[in-house]
Amino acid sequence: MKTLIAGYQKFRREVWPHDKDHFEALAKGQKPHTLVISCSDSRVDPAAIFSVRAGELFVIRNVASVVPPYETYGGYHGVSAAIAFAVINLEVERIVVLGHEHCGGVAAAMARTESPTPFLSQWVSLLEPAIHTCSGGDPLAVECESIRLSLGRLMTFPFIAERVENGTLQLIGAHFKISDGTLSMLDPADQVFKRVGDTA
Ligand SMILES: [Zn+2]
Repeated sequence: MKTLIAGYQKFRREVWPHDKDHFEALAKGQKPHTLVISCSDSRVDPAAIFSVRAGELFVIRNVASVVPPYETYGGYHGVSAAIAFAVINLEVERIVVLGHEHCGGVAAAMARTESPTPFLSQWVSLLEPAIHTCSGGDPLAVECESIRLSLGRLMTFPFIAERVENGTLQLIGAHFKISDGTLSMLDPADQVFKRVGDTA
């Protein structure tokens, strides 16, 4: 905990004096431009990758950046609730599904091992269609196909399909390589991930 306290004190000392006005404005309400659905993996931090300030991204993190199917029966649909809040209440302009290299959640789905509790194996079983599509067993291919799968599932949410069709919401797939810090984005024209240039 000492590390976290020291980090907080560094924030108060070095960041807060510069961002005080920014946070005071944010205290009146948030207006993030983008919803990012990312993995919980500690090595993949959307705010760091996209160099954004507080208030810019609404972030949902879960194991393997999974978008669950649109379901209307009662239950505790935490991911779907956050998606609905970002799209309907906050009116984000885009949704980025951010997968990554060496994803342990994707690896667990591919290994089909039973987890000590039902939570993990049941959750990552949502990636089965992506594993089925990538018969070669290449983890990178499954990571990328999982992103395509999640983007497809987003379109099964009626309030998302409606906004994509009228041009007020954009869906984007992205894959981050931890080993070299590069980002690739899904080209909707040919459904291939292509590396984003390092300069504008
Ligand atoms: Zn992951």
